[in-house]
Amino acid sequence: MLVKNPQPGELEAIETASRDEISALQLQRLQWSLRHTYDNVEPYRKRCQEKGIHPDDLKTLSDLSKFPFMTKADLRDHYPFGLFAVPQSKIARLHASSGTTGKSVVVGYTQSDLNNWANLIARSLRAAGLRAGHMVHNAYGYGMFTGGLGAHYGIERLGCTVVPMSGGQTEKQVQQIVDFRPDGMMVTPSYSLVIAEEFERRGIDPKDISLKVGIFGAEPWGEGMRAEIERKLGIDAVDIYGLTEVMGPGVASECIETKDGPVVWEDHFYPEIIDPETGEVLPDGEMGELVFTSLTKEGFPVIRYRTRDLTRLLKPTARSFRRLGKITGRSDDMLIVRGVNVFPTQIEEQIMRDPRLSGNYQIVLNRDGHMDNVEVRCELQREASSLGADDRAQLAKTLQHHIKTIIGISTKITVLDFNGIPRTEVGKARRVIDQRPQQV
Ligand code: ADP
Repeated sequence: MLVKNPQPGELEAIETASRDEISALQLQRLQWSLRHTYDNVEPYRKRCQEKGIHPDDLKTLSDLSKFPFMTKADLRDHYPFGLFAVPQSKIARLHASSGTTGKSVVVGYTQSDLNNWANLIARSLRAAGLRAGHMVHNAYGYGMFTGGLGAHYGIERLGCTVVPMSGGQTEKQVQQIVDFRPDGMMVTPSYSLVIAEEFERRGIDPKDISLKVGIFGAEPWGEGMRAEIERKLGIDAVDIYGLTEVMGPGVASECIETKDGPVVWEDHFYPEIIDPETGEVLPDGEMGELVFTSLTKEGFPVIRYRTRDLTRLLKPTARSFRRLGKITGRSDDMLIVRGVNVFPTQIEEQIMRDPRLSGNYQIVLNRDGHMDNVEVRCELQREASSLGADDRAQLAKTLQHHIKTIIGISTKITVLDFNGIPRTEVGKARRVIDQRPQQV
C-alpha cells in the first residue's frame, strides 16, 4: 500500500520545519558552501575578486544576489575537473550530462555527496508514497547519466528492493514487471508510455499491473501526459526534477498527496528565479530562469548555477519547502518560429486535449525561402486506429486551430497511425527535428 497521508513523524524534521528554521539552516550552509568554493575553486574565486565580493560579505540569504553566476559555459571551459573543489583522490564517482544540448560536462561526488544524494532520492521516494519493503523497477539508464545510479542508491537507502533494469529491452522490462510485481517505477515519462504500450500489446489490463506509483523525470511533461500515463498504467504519476550539474535526479520531487509540482529540497539546494536577460532576482511566483546554489556539496559545489530551465517558485504546501511550477522547457529548447517563442510542451498540451491522440509526437521544422514551416506529427492511440479519413482530417483541423489560437503559430498537422512515431528506448525523447539551415 502506498502512504498517501504521511504522519509528520514519518518525515525528516526539516521537511515540516518553520520557515525561520529552514532559513537559519540555509544561511549557515550557504556561508560554508561559498567559503568552500572560494577557497578551493580558483576560477570562481577570481570571478568574485573581479567583482570585489568575498564570502564574508554574505550576511543574509538575499546577499547571495551579489555573487557571480556559474554557467554551463564555465563547466565546459574547465572540462573535465577544473571546477572540482577537492582533489581527484577524494572523488568517489564521476558522472556526465547526457549532452542533450552541446558538449557533455563532467561532475564529481565525494562519498559524503553520494550519501546526501541517496538520502534525497530516498526522501523523494517517500514523498511518492513508497516505504521500506516496497520494490522499485529502475528503468533510468545506468552509466554516466545520473538517472540510473542516482536512483539506484536512493531506492536501496529507503530500504526498498531495487530492480536495476536500466533503459531499453522493452519486452524484457514488461516481463520482469509482470513476474516480479514491483510497486514503483522510475523512468522518463516518454519511456513509461512505451512500456505502457507493451502492456497494451499483451492485452494486460492496467488494473492487473502491480505498479502503484511512477516517479518520472529527466524531461518536461505536462498534465495531459500525466493523465495518459496514469490511465494506461493504472498508477499515480509524480514528477522528479534534477540536473547533472546540480546533483542529478532528486533536487526536487513531487508529493503524492498533492501532485502540485516538485518540492525543492531546500536544505541542500538554494533556489532563485532570475530574469534571464538582466540577471535580477525575481519574487516567488514570477516566471524566470531557475538558478541553484548547492548548500552541502563537497566535490563539485555550484554557486548560482544558471539551469536555463524556465519556471516559477511556488508556496509550500505538503512540505515546508517551496515548489517548482511545471518546467516549460529549457531556454535552449525554445523554438523561435516566425518570431513566436514556442516550447514543445505547449504543443504537447494541445495534442493531449484529444484523447484519440497519444503522447508520442514530433515537431519538424523546415525553412521555405525565408519562412519557417512547422509540421506537427502526432499519432493515434491504438484504440483509435480505425478512425476514417474524414475524422482524421477533422481531428487535424481542430488541433491546427487550437495551436493557432492558443500558441499563435500556423502548423501543418500530420496524423499518423499508431506506432508511426519512432520510440526512444534509451535516454530522453527527441521531440524536435530542426531541418532549417543553420544561421551563421
Ligand atoms: P542533459 O543536460 O544532457 O539533458 P541532464 O540529465 O542533466 O542532462 O538534464 C537535466 C535537464 O533535464 C534539466 O535541466 C531539465 O531541463 C530537464 N529535466 C529534468 N527533470 C525534469 C522534469 N521533471 N521536468 C522537466 N524537465 C526536467
